[in-house]
Amino acid sequence: MVSSVAGPRVLLRRLREVMAEPESAQKRLEKVSVAIASNMVAEVCSVYLMRPDNILELFASEGLNPAAVHNTFLGTGEGLVGLIAAEAETLSLSDAQAHPAFAYRPETGEDAFNAFLGVPILRLGHTLGVLVVQNRTRRTYSEEEVEVLQTTAMVLAEMIVAEDMAASVVAHEPRLGLGASLQLKATSFARGIALGVAVFHEPRVNVVKLIADNASVEQRRLDVAIASLRQAVEEMMHKPDVVRGGEPRDILEVYRMYAYDRGWVQKIEEAISTGLTAEAAVERVQNETLARLLRQSDPYVRDRLHDFDDLTNRLLRILAGRSATASAEDLPDNAVIFARNMGPADLLDYDRDRLRALILEEGGATSHVAIVARALEIPMVGRVDNILQLVDAGDPVIVDGDMGELYVRPSLEISESYTEKLKFIELREAQYAKLRLTKAITKDGCDIKLYMNAGLPVDIDHLDASGADGIGLFRTEFQFMIASRFPRLDEQTAVYRSVLEAANGQRVVFRSLDIGGDKVIPYMRQAEEENPALGWRAIRMSLDRPALLRSQIRALLRASGGGELNLMFPMVSEVDEVIRARALVDKEISFLTRHNYTIPSSINIGVMLEVPSLIWHIPALAPYVDFISVGSNDLLQFMFASDRASPRLTGRFDSLSPAFLKILRQIVVECNAHDIPLSLCGEMAGVPVEAMALIAIGFRSISMSASSIGPVKEMVLSLDASALEAEILPRLDEPVKSLRPAIEAFALGNDIPF
Ligand code: PEP
Ligand code: MG
Repeated sequence: MVSSVAGPRVLLRRLREVMAEPESAQKRLEKVSVAIASNMVAEVCSVYLMRPDNILELFASEGLNPAAVHNTFLGTGEGLVGLIAAEAETLSLSDAQAHPAFAYRPETGEDAFNAFLGVPILRLGHTLGVLVVQNRTRRTYSEEEVEVLQTTAMVLAEMIVAEDMAASVVAHEPRLGLGASLQLKATSFARGIALGVAVFHEPRVNVVKLIADNASVEQRRLDVAIASLRQAVEEMMHKPDVVRGGEPRDILEVYRMYAYDRGWVQKIEEAISTGLTAEAAVERVQNETLARLLRQSDPYVRDRLHDFDDLTNRLLRILAGRSATASAEDLPDNAVIFARNMGPADLLDYDRDRLRALILEEGGATSHVAIVARALEIPMVGRVDNILQLVDAGDPVIVDGDMGELYVRPSLEISESYTEKLKFIELREAQYAKLRLTKAITKDGCDIKLYMNAGLPVDIDHLDASGADGIGLFRTEFQFMIASRFPRLDEQTAVYRSVLEAANGQRVVFRSLDIGGDKVIPYMRQAEEENPALGWRAIRMSLDRPALLRSQIRALLRASGGGELNLMFPMVSEVDEVIRARALVDKEISFLTRHNYTIPSSINIGVMLEVPSLIWHIPALAPYVDFISVGSNDLLQFMFASDRASPRLTGRFDSLSPAFLKILRQIVVECNAHDIPLSLCGEMAGVPVEAMALIAIGFRSISMSASSIGPVKEMVLSLDASALEAEILPRLDEPVKSLRPAIEAFALGNDIPF
């Protein structure tokens, strides 16, 4: 058996020669078994490969009965070979037949062999097959021999994948997920459909050179790379902001722990000493560790798997001299970016023209990157377990952000049906674009103002193209949410000014900071609350800590100098809050006047009506407000005591329920009676059938996402508002769950697109 250090290198050299030979994959696999058997002085060397049906098939053997090749099969978990595959662990036995898992296959003639050493053939932690050597004598394989066989298995794995033996010999790919067509359920974070090719945000390095020319050179390369990895982690930890690009501090702590883990580095060094290049050695240890971690069901351990994988990929990129993210590289013009997680700034680094969609293994609907994705109108899905292991760079993918679905390597039928769907969407969009300059007036002459919601300067690009009448809700907190520290007064002023300039005289309604609840500012400490949606948030926080609100008001007054300022306060629950907020505005006006700033020519102060208590206080509120905008997202949540962020409650209570429409109707009546201009800026405004109901109960101004303006305008143009009003108003006391079916029937009966 192998005992000299030269042994493994000789074997690896021989494998390299075999891999380069112009022969069929089957022939090369046979030659590989011969080379391994002879180098390791083993009487048997067999290669089992995993088939798509999870059956291990004997693909090549030196020493076993040749007739057994392609005729010996083992299920995963069956026999010693199946056990190695299932557990992705090496098995070394001096008396194989005494092992309880031993399964005798008469066709192989292996009963003559006692000593058994089997190692899994791994790629990205998944088992592609099993490599086995056997000897007649009952002997114990040395640690060095085990190492050598593991290294050989790694080279074999690369050969199976890189030389596309998958196609010619073995279809192992579905086992891995790689190669197979997959349909995966995901959580939708930004709507829309996209077809494109997979690009890793942090590109995975393809290790091409496995076998080293000089081990000490490789050892030195590793030392330098580890040092620079540690330095990079330290730099990340010491950034002034606690959060960097979506990586909270605790993840960085784990990175640091791994980066300094002596055991990890030692394993890589051992792999180098068996003849691998530094990259290949890192990848081998990555494979083995992933294989172990992937088999753990503990979610905490599986989470650590991601951290470990990230760190290893960073090390591989350092070794390959590629430390930038994909945004710095040449992107295909239909890139679908895959990442475990990323920060909003990372997404903004990409060339928008080449970006088709974003997929995150983790992510949340309220995460900042999701906000940016929606602003850029990029479909985005997330919470797809293990996606980074299931997809390969360059794979074709389809993202359905409407249905929360992801197709990897889709079948021809799926691709065709989505291509059709996209064509249809484009046609509709072209139709909406034609309506851009058409006023939204119903068939019976009601002029409906359609505004758009925005929150980032990038949103403003859509104002002109959408044909919106202005911005009905500018969510100022977005600037705060995507920053890494509080934006300074001049930075806030600059954003507000740029929005007003882009609006070019059209009405813009700024909402003061609505933070707390689901809107988290990463750099701001907030006490834990049992019910954050009902907690210390929005205007409540602003009034208790007025410095922040005052600086925002100052920025808004300065940005609107000489023009009109429309400012509304979120989550107002009682009139007193508006009185106090107005007093802050007055203070700021006198401050700016004292310092000779031009103040706005007109200032309109409004409130968001999203807390039910205010509905009964509209008359008392009237003297203090210039307008009201209903925040139907929150109003619905509070009216039905139903958390808007809970996936279990999604769709349980309908915004078209008679109860909710009756409440909205009451708001319309009260506002009309007190001459308060009224609008509504929740999600329901952007859904044509829901917007129909709003118009029927008396809303004449609504605000929605830019992409909804076209469909809603098309609906308005074919609607007879008074006919629908006559249909709906008498039904507001009906004991039905929703009036949606009635409104849809009306739309169908009257040829109204919805
Ligand atoms: C709402 O609550 O309806 C609203 C528009 O505000 P947000 O969704 O930002 O809470
Ligand atoms: Mg709200």
